[in-house]
Amino acid sequence: MGKFDVVIVGAGPAGSVAAYALARRGERVALLDRARFPRPKLCGGLLTWKSMQLLRSVLGLDQEFLLQSGVINYQSDRFSIYGPKHLLASGELSFPFHFTDRNRFDALLLECAGRAGAHIFEETRAAVCDPDKGWVTTTDGQVFKARYVIGADGVNSAIRAAFPEGRIDHARWKHFLAPAIEISLPPDRFPRSVHCPELHIGMLKAGYGWVFPNKDRVILGICGLRRNISNFSNLFRNYLEYLNIEKADEIRFKGYPLPYGNYLEQPWCGRVLLAGDAGGLVEPLFGEGIFFAMASGLYAGEAVAEALKNNGKPSLFYCQRLQSQILSEIKASDRFRWLLFRGVNFMGDKALGMFVKAASRRLGDMVHGKRSYCWTFKKHWDFL
Ligand SMILES: Cc1cc2nc3c(=O)[nH]c(=O)nc-3n(C[C@H](O)[C@H](O)[C@H](O)COP(=O)(O)OP(=O)(O)OC[C@H]3O[C@@H](n4cnc5c(N)ncnc54)[C@H](O)[C@@H]3O)c2cc1C
Repeated sequence: MGKFDVVIVGAGPAGSVAAYALARRGERVALLDRARFPRPKLCGGLLTWKSMQLLRSVLGLDQEFLLQSGVINYQSDRFSIYGPKHLLASGELSFPFHFTDRNRFDALLLECAGRAGAHIFEETRAAVCDPDKGWVTTTDGQVFKARYVIGADGVNSAIRAAFPEGRIDHARWKHFLAPAIEISLPPDRFPRSVHCPELHIGMLKAGYGWVFPNKDRVILGICGLRRNISNFSNLFRNYLEYLNIEKADEIRFKGYPLPYGNYLEQPWCGRVLLAGDAGGLVEPLFGEGIFFAMASGLYAGEAVAEALKNNGKPSLFYCQRLQSQILSEIKASDRFRWLLFRGVNFMGDKALGMFVKAASRRLGDMVHGKRSYCWTFKKHWDFL
């Protein structure tokens, strides 16, 4: 296999945005994915304001285009939060949540990377990586040699697995890895119409359930830390019953792990940078990962481009932007979630309902990224 400046493993949002950022600067980029696109991806597909801003300002994909092309199939500027027995709070947002089908969304981002000049290798699975040499060997024996590698191969990253012993706290990683289970139903199988995203709290000590609207389906799921829960499938079945879904026991469902507070503070090693789920870079309250994958992919790509130009260390450039833009938000959200989860367990869900009602606009802006998870101060994103 030829030599590249950079090999990127994984063409989800993190990998495709990293490839786009590098290819548009003229770097020789190989983007590998084990799947052929469009490929299925279990995800609620909720996009916040900051995601929409990044798509527009970095990739030139504006809201109008995404809506017209059907990549975004629903939007709602309202939300509802339910406790175990009743509605706790509902309100209006300053900007709508947008919903996408990940099959189409990820295929579009990959197309952007290809158009920018990235060399795309589908059905190419990375097996081993040498972080010191910058080599990636695939399961069929091809060796991709590059000056740098970006590991964007998701939560079960093969690239992260190549980091030497002691580089990652595996116990912490496992402890904060949350099971997430999700299904999508035709709207007539759901007992009522759903027009806005709903959160359902109280079933889990550290987690929640969701019901998301879409053009032609309803998406429902749960995610949370294991704690004392031995069987998440049973919990999900109880959730379906609580939602009054008929014939719940006949529904087949899938689960997938979500990094839920196990972000890596230093997601790099040798010539490798990790982006997105591979580095655990997911917001730990609601599990928002699409934005953090795209943003960390962008920063990893730009850090490598900078290093290639100036012969510097990409981890230094990556570290600066990761700390100031992403990890600061993830850490503040982590603190905030414990405040909320413990608050609910201590004071009951009604108190949470009152709190959300009183500050709904501000909290909505915080989730959207107009305000920071740190004391809801105004947030400035450096890609805008
Ligand atoms: C049930 C569920 C619901 C969610 N809902 C939302 C939501 O509504 N909004 C939101 O913002 N986030 C949501 N998330 C989180 C979000 O899906 C992830 O954070 C996001 O997909 C991370 O993007 P990524 O590019 O890092 O990884 P991924 O999207 O997982 O992409 C990784 C890519 O790497 C490829 N790959 C893996 N291993 C290899 C290998 N060895 N060689 C080559 N290629 C490989 C895979 O095929 C894949 O294409 C949800 C997650 C789950 C599980």
